[in-house]
Amino acid sequence: LAKRFVGLEKNIWIEFSALAVEHKAVNVGQGFIDYEPPQYLINFYKEALNDNNILLHQYTRGFGHRRLVEAISNVYSSYFDRKIDPLNQILVTGGAYPSLFNSFHGFLNPGDEAILIEPFFDCYEPMVRSAGGIPRCIALKPKPESTKGDISSSADWVLDKNELESMFNSRTRLIIVNTPNNPIGKVFTREELEHIAILCQKHDVICISDEVYEWITYDENKKHIRMATLPNMWERTLTIGSAGKTFSSTGLKLGWTIGPEHLLRSCQIVHQDCVYTCPTLSQEVVARCFEFELKRLNSPECYFNSISSEFIGKRDKLVEVLKECGMKPVVPDGGYFVLADFSQIAGDKFQSDIHDMKDFKFVRYLTKEKQLATIPATGFYTSEHRHLADNYIRFCFAKKDETLDKAIEILRKLK
Ligand code: PMP
Ligand code: GLN
Repeated sequence: LAKRFVGLEKNIWIEFSALAVEHKAVNVGQGFIDYEPPQYLINFYKEALNDNNILLHQYTRGFGHRRLVEAISNVYSSYFDRKIDPLNQILVTGGAYPSLFNSFHGFLNPGDEAILIEPFFDCYEPMVRSAGGIPRCIALKPKPESTKGDISSSADWVLDKNELESMFNSRTRLIIVNTPNNPIGKVFTREELEHIAILCQKHDVICISDEVYEWITYDENKKHIRMATLPNMWERTLTIGSAGKTFSSTGLKLGWTIGPEHLLRSCQIVHQDCVYTCPTLSQEVVARCFEFELKRLNSPECYFNSISSEFIGKRDKLVEVLKECGMKPVVPDGGYFVLADFSQIAGDKFQSDIHDMKDFKFVRYLTKEKQLATIPATGFYTSEHRHLADNYIRFCFAKKDETLDKAIEILRKLK
């Protein structure tokens, strides 16, 4: 193994997805939807094939299928309040994962620092490290009074302003912000984003904004805000999106990076000798999906406007049961995950030690002994800060009612 990957051998998805399958567990762990995606997506696959366009079976434009980048530009220009150039300001990749990879590898030199906010989507740290960068991590912390009840809110998890300021220095190359956040479901407020934006400008730092859950928010007053739309931030922000999350079809494995030409160029250079181009047929299908939604962007029927209503009932149902069985849930304002504090129900049975954290032990126990698959929260932390979260596990509620009901039945018996 090349030295830059040594120490990065473990991966929570590889371990826990396999464990869930092995034990035939009810899977409320990994973030994927276990029911049909929108019907139009399926129809567009059929239509695209029926068109007998032989070009759809061959390579397409390396930086993104022409019809797709145009559709992305048409949709996102209205959300970014600017005309996005489809050919130079959008890069289509094989999912948000490679968009993240291109961004980290496109900008980090050995010794450069990247600021990560914990909890973070787990691949950020290994990507920074394999690029030679140094992760500098700051954890969101719950306001002390918020943890006293049997339920709390993701909005109670905040950054200490002074601590955040102290993370920036002359070696800082970038910061990555994930809003709405996976795993805690926090939707960063305008004030919070503005503070980050000001620090980026002061220290000449790039912001990578992972917005894959951009359409999934649950409170009218806490809507998703795009970092690139804040004053002076377009020039220093790369925004990442995912077709898998946008169209509830994680198997699509298509994503995109949107940003100014001078930044996007670095991402293109990493992409062109790695992936070069993404599958043509699925790009054509996603283009048709965006074109379809473009016609109804301002209507409540638009999937981007209605998707959250599909999930909110599921969130509330799971939260209620977690509360009932003594697992204190952190109610998310966005995304489709909920963290829950299991310390009350687990008692002293599971303890963190140098080999293993107690949330990992508890998740293995639940999967193997109770056939309930979840994800340990410390998988979203660096080793430096993981003690902050070893009482939590993550549930995904983007599941059909039948799956949620089975999970609930198991949870009720845990009490
Ligand atoms: N970022 C976040 C925050 C995620 O939760 C995920 C998982 N969907 C990704 C990136 C990767 O997305 P994709 O499946 O499009 O590669
Ligand atoms: N983003 C999804 C999650 O957080 C899936 C990640 C993965 O399977 N690698 O669960």
